[in-house]
Amino acid sequence: MNNTPAVKILLIVFLLFIGCAQPQGTLPQYNQQLSIEEQKIQNQLFADSWLKTYIDVSENGLNILFNAVDLCRDEDQIYGIGVDIATRYDGPESIRAELTKSLFLSDEITVVATGINTPARIAGFKKGDKIIKINNMSAPYGIDANSEFYKIIREAENKIHKFVINRDGQDLIIEVGSKKRCRFGFFVDLDNSTFNAFADGNYIALSLRMAKWLAQDEIGIALVFAHELAHNANRHIDDKKTNMQAGAGVGLLLDIFARSQGVQTDFMNMGANMGAMSYSIDYENEADYLSIYALALSGYDINDAANFWRRFAVEVPSSIYSKGGSHPSTSERFVRIEKTIKEVYAKINNGEKLLPN
Ligand SMILES: [Zn+2]
Repeated sequence: MNNTPAVKILLIVFLLFIGCAQPQGTLPQYNQQLSIEEQKIQNQLFADSWLKTYIDVSENGLNILFNAVDLCRDEDQIYGIGVDIATRYDGPESIRAELTKSLFLSDEITVVATGINTPARIAGFKKGDKIIKINNMSAPYGIDANSEFYKIIREAENKIHKFVINRDGQDLIIEVGSKKRCRFGFFVDLDNSTFNAFADGNYIALSLRMAKWLAQDEIGIALVFAHELAHNANRHIDDKKTNMQAGAGVGLLLDIFARSQGVQTDFMNMGANMGAMSYSIDYENEADYLSIYALALSGYDINDAANFWRRFAVEVPSSIYSKGGSHPSTSERFVRIEKTIKEVYAKINNGEKLLPN
């Protein structure tokens, strides 16, 4: 562009003019202090909305990590009981104070969620329980309590753990046997604008927006979680980032871990689509295939699983005709999954063990 001095001066005059422009009406007086109070209210509402979604992911995710354990390799199996716990030191930093308030977190370990069909749920653990003692020892306490708790639980093979918990001021004893599970961790990011889910070899991650959308129907969270688990279980991504033994269901904590491991950066850069990491289409089809087995093993009604891809197509219409990208089209996914559902039902009806071909 050839900006002559005259044009520049005109431009400056113009900018000065609009810079000085004022609304003509008189606005009601604005109270900044009230605005600061309102920020706190809004952040609490956001934190509670995130938490509701996170708990949904945790309950379904733990179900699949435990009950689809046969899909994970031996070296990817650890022991667990199926509780998701937190102290006041856990959770994403920008909403930690709000989560502490909503969940009554303290230095003691608090149960945040229990996985569907997991030993903890069956033994009677409930959200809000404070864990006081484990196997006659004082339970871990304070800033490292979360990781210390999972250290105690993950190592012990098929062990019956005796817990003393405090529920509404009353001490209760709960005995629960540990069970095998896939080791992978999971988290729900705070990203409410990106529509994304991915697996990086250690974690299963959902963006908040994706998780909220998935939570609208019965099988959504479970299906995507199972798909991402299949990527991790089958080493679809060769993870060079970290050998950290991630995952013992410490989702709230893992969110912080993930950030320190640089996962957040990948996450932000991945664009607005599901599993946008570059797997081949074959890997995607394999993950879809295995996801149906994982769902069936975890007690979900797989009849509706193919329909998920119709709903996804409505939400992301560019995926209907997608060709040559990193993902199969939603039409291909629908057709293939229908076939897989038939295969799984045939095995169930024949009384065969539910393992993929
Ligand atoms: Zn995928």
